[in-house]
Amino acid sequence: MRLPVFDDVLAARDLLSSHLPATPLWSYPVLDEAAGASVFVKHENTQPTGAFKVRGGLTLLAGMTPEQRRRGLVTYSTGNHAQSIAYACAEYGASCTVVMPESASEEKIRATRGYGARVLLSGADMAGAQHAAEALADELLLVSPGDTAELMAGVGTAYLEVLEARPDLDAVVVPVGSGTGAAAACLVTAAVAPRCRVIGVQSSASPAAHDSWRAGNTVERPNRTAVEGLATGRGFALPQRLLRKGLAEFRLVSDERIREAQRVLASHAHTLAEGAGAAALAAVLAAPDDFADLRVAVVCTGGNAPRSEIAGLAE
Ligand SMILES: *Cc1c(COP(=O)(O)O)cnc(C)c1O
Repeated sequence: MRLPVFDDVLAARDLLSSHLPATPLWSYPVLDEAAGASVFVKHENTQPTGAFKVRGGLTLLAGMTPEQRRRGLVTYSTGNHAQSIAYACAEYGASCTVVMPESASEEKIRATRGYGARVLLSGADMAGAQHAAEALADELLLVSPGDTAELMAGVGTAYLEVLEARPDLDAVVVPVGSGTGAAAACLVTAAVAPRCRVIGVQSSASPAAHDSWRAGNTVERPNRTAVEGLATGRGFALPQRLLRKGLAEFRLVSDERIREAQRVLASHAHTLAEGAGAAALAAVLAAPDDFADLRVAVVCTGGNAPRSEIAGLAE
């Protein structure tokens, strides 16, 4: 496995410039007051697929040969990675197969099929879906959602936008599932704003990446969070290698705090975040003393909340 480097992120920014506009980075006085800090919300929920991952999908597809695109690729996902790869395959005319667990939501399946991908349902969970995807790897290029350098280079462009807009940030807080986003944040921060600290956040109900980082090797953990973008039961080797070098801190927050942060984003930043998209703010609100008076970017990584979740926010 090849580790991405900062030049890969710069190259990704060039190629993405003809596909995606930069996303907004806004601050809100009422949110600053609630947090006791200067908070900058990076609105990745405004991406066409509703999440930051599309930056990685497009970067991956751009680097494939016409022959590889014709042959097609296969990946596994419960949601946003699926939509990212399906969207990018549609942009580049590549054939796309996504294996989702049998429990995947109707909304996610429909969205992924909407981009023209073939969706196969297999396995009780992500491990089962991964197994089914691997069985197709003889014919199709298998894309790991976590251990793929091109995906990390692409998602790193979000952090380039953040740090070029606010080079004076004290910290950038990043929700973690497989760790590609936080790993890319470490790469970019080291190159352009070394005094800005990268802080990872995971749900305490699914702490595999957090525990892998602390242990210094990839571990498996129970995966019980209701927050889909953060739901992974194992650490991924490639992002963990970058996190080990670059991550300043790794925090855990409860699903309940994440839900509350979704409400705060709705009311104070008039934006719809899915749970994963609110986890960074949840970490800031959970530890006001640690962030008091700092300049902090929180990445609202996605807005793909299912209807039932949106309804629950009103309670
Ligand atoms: C995938 C995802 C994450 C976690 O990103 P990783 O790169 O897997 O760590 C966070 N938020 C949302 C909305 C996601 O889709």
